[in-house]
Amino acid sequence: MASQRPSLGHHCGVAAIYSPQELNIPEKLFFPLFSLQHRGQESAGIAYRKGRNTVVYKDLGMVSTVLSRYLQGSRPSHAGIGHVRYSTHGGNKLENAQPILVSCNKGEIALAHNGNISNTAELKNRLFADGSIFQTTSDTELFLHLISRSRQPTFAEALMETLEQTQGAYSMVLLHDDELYAIRDPYGFRPLYIGTKDGMTVAASETCAMDILEVREYRSVEPGEVIVVNSEGTRSSFLSKPAGARLHQCVFELIYFARPDSHVFDNSVHERRKRMGGALATQDMGSNGTRGVPIADIVVPVPDSGNSAALGYAEASGLPFDFGLTRNHYAGRSFIMPTVDARELAVRMKLHPVREVISGKRIVLVDDSLVRGTTSRSLVRLLKEAGAAEVHLRLSAPEILWPCFFGIDIPTRGELISNAMTPEEIAARIGADSVRFLSIETLKTCLDAPANYCFACFNGEYPFRVPMTEEERNLPDRRKRV
Ligand code: SF4
Repeated sequence: MASQRPSLGHHCGVAAIYSPQELNIPEKLFFPLFSLQHRGQESAGIAYRKGRNTVVYKDLGMVSTVLSRYLQGSRPSHAGIGHVRYSTHGGNKLENAQPILVSCNKGEIALAHNGNISNTAELKNRLFADGSIFQTTSDTELFLHLISRSRQPTFAEALMETLEQTQGAYSMVLLHDDELYAIRDPYGFRPLYIGTKDGMTVAASETCAMDILEVREYRSVEPGEVIVVNSEGTRSSFLSKPAGARLHQCVFELIYFARPDSHVFDNSVHERRKRMGGALATQDMGSNGTRGVPIADIVVPVPDSGNSAALGYAEASGLPFDFGLTRNHYAGRSFIMPTVDARELAVRMKLHPVREVISGKRIVLVDDSLVRGTTSRSLVRLLKEAGAAEVHLRLSAPEILWPCFFGIDIPTRGELISNAMTPEEIAARIGADSVRFLSIETLKTCLDAPANYCFACFNGEYPFRVPMTEEERNLPDRRKRV
């Protein structure tokens, strides 16, 4: 079932802490998870060592609600992991919340995972045939089954065997008895960082989660790296690289998903977004001389994800930047509104025009991406009702034409507006005066090593066979009919 959300969705964030000295680990985990809330708002959870056991606590809801109990009292521990979840196919059910904790022939294992396994069906069929019983619909459980059923003599060997069998995107943290693991898949789809402070080791999806704990010394977990931290120190090993594989870091982490104050893939997210906005302005100018920049009065971001790109657009074009929309942060990020009217109401609850900024102005409205177009239509209407003379929508991502199989919730191809309409048709549909996307080629100029990134949702070039239906694969390309 495809997502009903009007925008793109994350597939989770992870955090982990190990300390040779006992600390109040559950309390400490609260803070990095709170920093990663933007990566998933539907459930939160932690697992930590309590004496010789691992205990887990998780529930549906935001970090501040689910985990606030851990801000009181003392729970001395050496290690813990945590997770924030965004649900998709598995649905928003408690049994799919993470970490998942199991006790098996390899010991106690707790796992928190960000990503998506592409060969889930094949592996699950095999396990079902062997008699396995699954309790969740998330593919995280798959790792645990494979580890448990492995005939390798040690946990470490069973883990490596499991990882070599699974294909797809995974950045994960794992507790095995008193050891902490931080693992990133060989393609490097999702970010994962590891750092140290005063003997404590912290791993997290983004560096904003390091900053809140004042961890200043950190590095990216390398693609294919398996790091284990225990009482003897830290050691790392590497998974073998699939034949012909190259890095496929998700470019959407830089465009939209990660927090602007984070570093992911060793890039400042804010700085890259500014570059993308600047490139959008240059692209406008380059295609049509200086008249290519819309004859506009101001550049307005769609807050918050459009802020950095709008700033870049304003600097490159020389147009003034202003906040013509304010965001109500209490409206949440995960409304599911079934009808167009209700979705429009959801947009009005979330974004408010600042009439004094907008009235009578010709506006360049900068957003990160266009999925179904429903939110943009409501937004353009809001701005025009508030007196905007013209609205020129600029997107700092290319046209999204293909689904993602690596951990991002993208609707079916038929639901993506760019599969049905040209930018000119989209402008007419949403009531904008013009619509333009950043081209893939221009996006690549904003990256230091574009060959290390995934662009599959823009160009359909997946790094390996993905479980797409033939119907989806063969959907007529609208660009071939224009
Ligand atoms: S398909 Fe798109 S969203 Fe998915 S990993 Fe690649 S760039 Fe990211």
